[in-house]
Amino acid sequence: MPRLSLLDVRKRYLGATPTDALRGVTLQIEQGDFVAIEGPSGGGKSTLLNVIGLLDEATSGDYKVGDTDTGTASPRALAELRSDRFAFIFQSFHLLDRRPVTDSVELALLYRAVPRAERRRLAQQALTTVGLGHLSQQTAAKLSGGERQRVAIARALATGAPIVVADEPTGNLDSDNSKAVVDSLRALNESGTTIVLVGHVTKDGSLAG
Ligand code: ADP
Repeated sequence: MPRLSLLDVRKRYLGATPTDALRGVTLQIEQGDFVAIEGPSGGGKSTLLNVIGLLDEATSGDYKVGDTDTGTASPRALAELRSDRFAFIFQSFHLLDRRPVTDSVELALLYRAVPRAERRRLAQQALTTVGLGHLSQQTAAKLSGGERQRVAIARALATGAPIVVADEPTGNLDSDNSKAVVDSLRALNESGTTIVLVGHVTKDGSLAG
């Protein structure tokens, strides 16, 4: 299972005013870790998450996912690595609003060429794990914010990706829903999934943006 190793990773955004968003990040994340990235707005948290999730490239430094040096891997190898190893949870949930909930979960498996019956079974299993098994046929738009975010977690779960990357996954949720989402993420983590998220985990176990 992949260890994530960042060594002196820097990211500079070019433009009228170049910005050094990451100034030498060295960090090792072991499989099964639960990592919360905290800091002030504009501090580079999303940039770091995007680099970790292979959604963006570092300007310099080394980043290894398992044995793969991402700086020298081909674009195709990086795309494969991204889809095999990572699942993403965003603040806005990216669900198929007019379709039954199960479709949003199954879609992630369609990309991975899982046969239909197996997609349905895995989606149902993942939805049950996050406490939404009874809502699999409900139209996604009818769910509450917290339920929608749990569908996004079920989608990550169904793919079986070893690493889940989440950018302020509770940013749009009230405290009860936020707690339910964090509990689902913790359960995922207890089953061995690495969680890397942006957000502040409070003492009572909820997440503050
Ligand atoms: P955070 O997530 O901690 O709020 P970000 O990673 O979004 O911080 O941003 C870090 C810095 O990089 C900020 O100064 C931001 O303005 C800048 N930045 C982020 N994305 C871009 C971009 N695509 N182009 C130029 N500057 C950017």
